[in-house]
Amino acid sequence: MTTHSHRGYDLLHNPRLNKGTGFTPEERDQLGLRGLVPPRFTTQAEQQARVLENFRKKTAAIEKYIYLISLQDRNEHLFYRVVMDHVEEMMPIIYTPTVGEACTSFSHIFRRPRGLYVTAQDRGRIRDVLRNWPGRDVAMIVVTDGERILGLGDLGANGMGIPIGKLSLYTACAGVDPSRCLPITLDVGTNRDELLADPLYLGLPQKRLTGAEYEALVEEFVLAVQEVFPGAVIQFEDFATENAMHLLARYRDRVCCFNDDIQGTAAVTLAGILSATRITGQPLTQQVVMFLGAGAAATGIADLIVSALVREGMPEAEARRHCWFVDRGGLVVRGRTDLQEHKLPYAHDHAPAGDLLTAVESVKPTAIVGVSATPNTFTEAVVKAMSRHNPRPIIFPLSNPTSKSECTAAEAYGWSEGKAVFASGSPFDQVMWGGRTFTPGQGNNAYIFPGVGLGVIVSGARRVTDSMFYAAARTLAAGVPEASLNEGLLFPRLRDIRAVSARIATAVAEVAYADGLATVPRPADLPAVVRASMYDGTYPSYL
Ligand code: NAD
Repeated sequence: MTTHSHRGYDLLHNPRLNKGTGFTPEERDQLGLRGLVPPRFTTQAEQQARVLENFRKKTAAIEKYIYLISLQDRNEHLFYRVVMDHVEEMMPIIYTPTVGEACTSFSHIFRRPRGLYVTAQDRGRIRDVLRNWPGRDVAMIVVTDGERILGLGDLGANGMGIPIGKLSLYTACAGVDPSRCLPITLDVGTNRDELLADPLYLGLPQKRLTGAEYEALVEEFVLAVQEVFPGAVIQFEDFATENAMHLLARYRDRVCCFNDDIQGTAAVTLAGILSATRITGQPLTQQVVMFLGAGAAATGIADLIVSALVREGMPEAEARRHCWFVDRGGLVVRGRTDLQEHKLPYAHDHAPAGDLLTAVESVKPTAIVGVSATPNTFTEAVVKAMSRHNPRPIIFPLSNPTSKSECTAAEAYGWSEGKAVFASGSPFDQVMWGGRTFTPGQGNNAYIFPGVGLGVIVSGARRVTDSMFYAAARTLAAGVPEASLNEGLLFPRLRDIRAVSARIATAVAEVAYADGLATVPRPADLPAVVRASMYDGTYPSYL
């Protein structure tokens, strides 16, 4: 990075360029820094040690979050080096679960602005707002309207913590250059009364836009992005279910975009199922998957499983019968009159069943996937029924946070007498059962979206397609070593995430080339180009 225009004090106060005490004596002389930093030069590794010492001294997760964000605001390279080298320790702080707490108190812990706010008052001038961003080389945009932040509901503009956190993961996990990442909040208001009544709330103090006004704002935003940041990928994040689904349907074939809650979740879950098939010995074509919950996540996962089965040669109608939904009204079957449209493709001809246990007993699925955000719903009776019908039942309680998980890892292993093939949405500790140690896998979307984003950027893909998510899922599953499977672990270790993301990015770019979606010529050695493109937070020399 060139520093012609940045010297001295400016350089120290530019978080993208600052190295603090890491400026070498020569740099200090040439860049007018002498005297502005403490005399002793410290290496980036020594600075990391200082950061870790301070980070670990803090006991409250939210304090750790504030400390890390402040570091990001001062010295971005150092922030990323620390996160990359300690990803297992840092991810729960910069992302779930701590980011949820950070969003809840966003307006109270606010220190420095980051990202862009496009509000309901910006109708007609959104492109001007986007042009206020310093730089046109944006590659990755994560945008939320704050209506369904994690499991916390409507947080309005406080939801900004999510695009910020997610983009930090793009950089930490897949090396997407932070200077090309742009977090955006569409502040269309909030319906949460506590926020409207809070004098410190930083968002628009008004009720949410809805209907045609909301649609028009999103449309103007999407068109403005095409104009101001052509080629940027838009990731829709934490929109309420109905909006998430219809915005994805409206834009996926028009612009380069995806929805991680739907498609990223689908890919990480399909990867978990594919890993599970290596344990159970039953191929995907023999799996029958029952979902508890029939919202965005369930629909996304089911759609991707269907497209995977179709790829394996199965007719689509038959493939759909491999996926079953159970919602609050029981098994989703044809003839029910209370079904929303997105459930209809999975409403099969079958006798009604009022609850999950009855549905399991009658359909006899090979896998149950919990995406209901309702704890204690994978009961002992349900897990025991699954274990009776399957030598190795696949049990995935994916709901977050931990308090919402349909069952715990210890329950699944205990009730199934060690037979369960298990993955969850939130992390669980190792479980000892029958003299064996099980390591529960976490179906973390961070395994998927950073690599997908990088692959799309490297190939200059014009669209993000289901084939790319399918390729990502296969690549992720293939990266799980046999030894991990023996422990019950269905995903690679988080500490290996950069290598995993690089492989996913390569696979996604290959899809873009094969399907004629790429706009960048294919390099001879694609994996090497992907790896070389990955930002790693190492200090550049400014001499
Ligand atoms: P959503 O609101 O779109 O869907 C939830 C669905 O569950 C709705 O259809 C609702 O009617 C149904 N439901 C609620 N209570 C139920 C009950 N008692 N019995 C049956 N159905 C019930 O939400 P979503 O985006 O689909 O997310 C659902 C859950 O999945 C959340 O807890 C979320 O954290 C989790 N999730 C996990 C991952 C992951 O682990 N990688 C990814 C995405 C979502």
